[in-house]
Amino acid sequence: MTRGSSETRDRLLAIGRRPEHDESPVPSFEHNGVAFGGGAFQLFAGLCVVDTKESVKKTFRALEQAGVSTARAGVWKPRTSPYDFQGLGKECLPWLFELAGQHGIRVLAIEVLSEAHIEELCAALRLAGNPTSVMLQIGTRNAQNFELLKAVGRQSELPVLKKRGMGISLEESLLAMEYVVSQGNRRAVFCLRGVKTHLGEPHRNLVDFAQLPVVKRLTWLPVCADPSHAVGSKHRGPDGISDVHHAAAQAVVAGADMLLVDVHPDPQAALCDGPQALTLEELPAFLEDMRRVRLVYETRARRARAVEGPTEALHEARLGIQDVDAEILALLARRAALGKAAAQAKRALGLPVQDKEREAKNRVWREELARARGLDAELIEALFEEIVTWSRRLQEVEEGVQPSLASTHLRRR
Ligand code: PEP
Ligand code: MN
Repeated sequence: MTRGSSETRDRLLAIGRRPEHDESPVPSFEHNGVAFGGGAFQLFAGLCVVDTKESVKKTFRALEQAGVSTARAGVWKPRTSPYDFQGLGKECLPWLFELAGQHGIRVLAIEVLSEAHIEELCAALRLAGNPTSVMLQIGTRNAQNFELLKAVGRQSELPVLKKRGMGISLEESLLAMEYVVSQGNRRAVFCLRGVKTHLGEPHRNLVDFAQLPVVKRLTWLPVCADPSHAVGSKHRGPDGISDVHHAAAQAVVAGADMLLVDVHPDPQAALCDGPQALTLEELPAFLEDMRRVRLVYETRARRARAVEGPTEALHEARLGIQDVDAEILALLARRAALGKAAAQAKRALGLPVQDKEREAKNRVWREELARARGLDAELIEALFEEIVTWSRRLQEVEEGVQPSLASTHLRRR
């Protein structure tokens, strides 16, 4: 079935039925300001299991500094041994939600093991005043817990992240997802996390991310990948890149709409899955790596769908121009995120948003660069004037002060 047979397609009444040659993108849904699918890409990084307030605080602070507003946080853990740490349970929810709200975390992926957990999460969110929200995670061990699947599907308050079963076929996992969506909750994401077989050794599981396009072909679901639980190791190869990075990149380059990744401020002290967790210091480089790989995927997908031009030369030139425009847009998004980070740092130091002396120096530096590249320095500087004004405006909004509209275009808006 994994080749996408028509029999499977016919059985996926709620999540699938994508017609054979339909290449439209996965439609999106939104939850608490976060978009899933439809061209959006979300990275949920965080603790495999919540242990102390201190590590939650440090993790959320690192995510906030990196501009990430989505996190994972295990509260109830399905452990192989009953003697292993089972998670803090609902007692940690009040402070977990409060800390999430304080650090701008909009959605937390939290695994539920029973129907009671769904109500406990909703009640705790309400009691805390909804400072954040939750995505209900169904782990691989409950992949075919049909009553639980129906329960998360019956409610529509919270979206669902359902992992594939570790020892069942892709078809069985998709049919299990059908249990969720057929109950009415269409806000669901399917997650690949590897399959259990000794053939995957020395990795924890055999990575199945090559099936990502298959899920997209068969269904309309946004697809997530969990490189941490798939490979379970961050050993480095001779190229200096760790196994978690490699597996994550494989998923992103195959079009993952979402990633789930374990991080911990002190992996050695983690009560669960420490060996696969990235440190907070490793997080920015990981995010940057994924940003680059995502750009590669977007470029590949755009090129694969491009309509042929009248000549090969014109076709190539047009594709190249689109690639450059996409890169400019990605760079502008990055510039906006860095501007926000700078605004936060300035606020912490008590410095004003605008530093005229620094701006003047940067202007000279940019003009020199433009000239060195054979560009019209004055014209380029006029473009940069817009960008710098826009960035300052974003910083002022971040600061909560009235934006000073200086540039012509921004003044018009
Ligand atoms: C998890 O994500 O914390 C987890 C337990 O993963 P899985 O269900 O894939 O083993
Ligand atoms: Mn884990």
